[in-house]
Order: sequence, then C-alpha cells, then structure tokens
Amino acid sequence: MFPAYTPSAGWIEVICGSMFSGKTQELIRRLRLAMIAKQKVQVFNSSLDTRYGASHLISHDKVKIPCQAVKRSKEILRLIKNDTQVVGIDEVNFFDPGIVEVCQKLAYSGKRVVVAGLDQDYRGKPFAVTAKLLALAEYVTKNLAICMICGAPANHSQRLSNSKARIDVGAADKYEARCRKCFKPEKS
Ligand code: ZN
Repeated sequence: MFPAYTPSAGWIEVICGSMFSGKTQELIRRLRLAMIAKQKVQVFNSSLDTRYGASHLISHDKVKIPCQAVKRSKEILRLIKNDTQVVGIDEVNFFDPGIVEVCQKLAYSGKRVVVAGLDQDYRGKPFAVTAKLLALAEYVTKNLAICMICGAPANHSQRLSNSKARIDVGAADKYEARCRKCFKPEKS
C-alpha cells in the first residue's frame, strides 16, 4: 500500500478518526518502520498538545519517539532538513490553516508526509485542516474506536467536561469514543 521511498516523488498520508481510535499508534508504527529502514525522519507536533511534554510523541499505550513541538505551521518549513525523507505530524487538527500548504510543499519537494489528527471536533463538525488534507492526500486511513456505551464502531469524540473551547486537550478524563447513536453533541 505504501510504496518505497523514491527521491523524485513525495506524497501525503492522512491517518484520521475519533479519540481512542489509535491514530498516534498508527503514526508511530509507520515512522518506526521508516527509521528501521534507516530513512531520515523528522517528527512534529503542536505545542498546544501538552499531554506528555514536548520532546516525544507518545501514544496512549506509552510507545514514544522523539519529536519537535512547534507553535505555527511555518516553523516546520524552517526546521525541516534537506535530507529528511519522511515527515511525521501528529494532532494536525491543532495547527493553523497554513499547515495544509506546508504539507503540500513538503510532498512536492519529494518527502513522504504522514499526518495524524482528529477529523471531527466534539460537536461532530469536521476540522477544516484535516478535511482539506484528506482531499489532497494520496493515502487516507480512517480509524474507528469502539463506542464506550454500546460497543458499536465509534466515529465520534464525546466531550465529558463542560468546556466550550473547540480545542480542549485531554484523554480518558475528558472524552469518550461514541457511535452515531450514543453521541450527544448537544450535551457537550
Ligand atoms: Zn454506541
């Protein structure tokens, strides 16, 4: 499914889905395979994601790889090295709209760009950044979680807190994976 790296052609892969659908695990898996093959990998996440500290990408099951935390998408272009072959970006939905153009530039320059992020916010509305990247990507993976109420495939992130902010970083303490039937956006 994912062709071997060739210097001439880059591409974009998007891993999307709800909370608890294993997006970061899948991102880490792909990046580790590239590292095992001795490809040059750079990994970024948003400095908004303060869950585990800035210096590592860590999945909920505690697998971790080094990463650089950035505030603005443009910083990625400044930090990227010429000989980097694979670029990983986690929580892409946290970034400003410029991240779409940044991913395109990286892919056009011959790099494999692998991004992971939420496709919907806690009201079930698409994140524009993720939606655009889904349209532009060569490869799309949509992960589903399991509904914590009924066990059906879960496509939604139910916010348990009363926060009205679109971005409210947290994990099991603040969110639940829910299916279409059990998801109650109006209660958030
Ligand atoms: Zn359900």
